[in-house]
Amino acid sequence: MRFGKLTVAGRGEDRVSSSGRRRVMWDCVCDCGNVVTVNPDNLHSGRQRSCGCLQREEAGARLRTHGESKTKLYGIWSSMKARCYNKNTVAYKDYGGRGIEMCDEWKHDYDAFRKWALENGYRDDASIDRVDNDLGYSPENCEWVTGVAQANNRRSNRVYTVDGETHNLTEWAHIKGINPKTLFNRVYTGVPFDEAIKQ
Ligand SMILES: [Zn+2]
Repeated sequence: MRFGKLTVAGRGEDRVSSSGRRRVMWDCVCDCGNVVTVNPDNLHSGRQRSCGCLQREEAGARLRTHGESKTKLYGIWSSMKARCYNKNTVAYKDYGGRGIEMCDEWKHDYDAFRKWALENGYRDDASIDRVDNDLGYSPENCEWVTGVAQANNRRSNRVYTVDGETHNLTEWAHIKGINPKTLFNRVYTGVPFDEAIKQ
């Protein structure tokens, strides 16, 4: 009889519980070569399908698909987390210290962040940028920018004067009731600023 990777070889040594109950055990040979003594109930229920090597294999596969601890994207995620939540990092005062947080989904789930990143233009030379500097890291407020774009668009430092009023892009967006990301995209695609802030 065969259950998963286990082939029943014969009756094993009975197991005696502390209350004195005897349980019949079976000796099984696993495909990997190990011999194990198992409770037949676990075979019939499907709970045990190998000597344990299957779980180790599956755990290994999970580690491999998750084995991105050295990739750039994982590095971006973990340093983002550090900026927001680790008081010992230098950048914390400009992020977590100012109330900049990650959305719950990203904070607790690297895979969710990774999925968003890959679906939204992540490239190895891109960095994550918050559209509104006063808001945190979330799909709504983030985008990938390459080095040049990021350098050209230090939006918090760059100011625009319209009709004698001077504000940075985020402030203008709030004043005009425009989504900062929309405004950024207009400016970035070359729309003159006084046009861009029209609804
Ligand atoms: Zn095995």
